[in-house]
Amino acid sequence: MNLTERDKKHIWHPLTQHKLHPEAKPIVKAKGALLYDEEGKDYVDAISSWYTAMYGHCSDFIIERAHKQMLRLDQIIFSGFTHEPAVELSEKLMVILPDNQQKLMFNDNGSTATEIGIKMALQYHHNKGENRKTLLAFEEGFHGDTLGAMSVSGLSVYNGPFEEFFIDVKRIPLPDGENNERVLKTIEDVHKASPLAGFIYEPLVQGAAGMKMYQAQNLEPILQKCKELGIITVADEVMTGFGKTGSFFASDHIATKPDVMCLSKALTAGLVPMGITTCTQEIYDAFYDDDIGKGLFHAHTYSANPIACATAIAGIELLQSEEIQQNIKTIQGLHQQFASEIGDHPKVRTTRQQGVIFALELNVEMERYGDLRYKIYEFCMTEGVYLRPLGATIYILAPYVTTRDQMERVYAAIRKVLDTF
Ligand SMILES: *Cc1c(COP(=O)(O)O)cnc(C)c1O
Repeated sequence: MNLTERDKKHIWHPLTQHKLHPEAKPIVKAKGALLYDEEGKDYVDAISSWYTAMYGHCSDFIIERAHKQMLRLDQIIFSGFTHEPAVELSEKLMVILPDNQQKLMFNDNGSTATEIGIKMALQYHHNKGENRKTLLAFEEGFHGDTLGAMSVSGLSVYNGPFEEFFIDVKRIPLPDGENNERVLKTIEDVHKASPLAGFIYEPLVQGAAGMKMYQAQNLEPILQKCKELGIITVADEVMTGFGKTGSFFASDHIATKPDVMCLSKALTAGLVPMGITTCTQEIYDAFYDDDIGKGLFHAHTYSANPIACATAIAGIELLQSEEIQQNIKTIQGLHQQFASEIGDHPKVRTTRQQGVIFALELNVEMERYGDLRYKIYEFCMTEGVYLRPLGATIYILAPYVTTRDQMERVYAAIRKVLDTF
């Protein structure tokens, strides 16, 4: 039996309706921006394996650090113990995070990072004796698939079976400059009717919604309004973090800094899973008390796993390196060139870009998980490019180490898609 057949016997894949899509494709190895299948054919990983492997797959630099750590200390309970990689990582993060972030809580992935952000916002008010039970979020936001994270995600059309169990969440549209006043008014009205504990948002780019982008200047008044009303702002930077928007974090582009930030995905460079939720001193202080019950009683078994911490430290060092910073600039430039080249193509509705994130809206009718999406995916794979269109949106978020030739392979595949579909 081949791998696909063996896989089918016992494995239940994420985001997959197995009756419609029974076959999973084996990948046997990866290096840099390339994935290799069983026949040795290679594919440019143009979405960095869900925005994680930004410094390239199987980076020698990162693996060496992880390996060294493995030989020294593998795993230790983080309740009552500490270790060098966790402390060093906290110090490294403080250098690149917005200045107001002072404390961090380790967890396991993007969903747990946002769950903790949500719990911080809710318990913050509870600890202060305030009755605030409602959260605010954007329509079409995505914050993860665990129950709390799912509640605040406006996106999923498949939330049906769970909706009656959700946290109370009110939604606002993305601000576009024209609706700014209305959005602010909605926040005030909602807050009067059911006091808001927190506002969770993906700053500047909504990943899962199809790399939807919006302006910092339009987000700014919303964050200011939240501050004014004592609503805890939670920036979900799980996707946007670590260089993708052209700065370390998307929040760097916005003057009003969040109270809480959620990190994962590229945090550990695609090597191992980890999440981190950071917050201001003020949030932390609301939990600091003689009363044990005012603490944030939340733990994940693998919190601050030393190997994950060592990996994250190595990743941040690469991110800060001149080479990666230069690559980020180069890729931004290549995207701009590509955008101006294909902008007038009849199949292109719009293109947009923020940092190294590039998205193109096809001028065709498409369902989010419709057939055409799979056809385009298959077509690109034949061209040696792994892309994962979201509805009519084709987006590129390739590793920072993708070479010019490899980027050209991605653009060529998209040009062909435009001429074929
Ligand atoms: C991927 C993602 C999550 C969830 O992360 P997981 O590690 O898949 O649980 C949360 N928020 C955003 C913005 C994401 O892109």
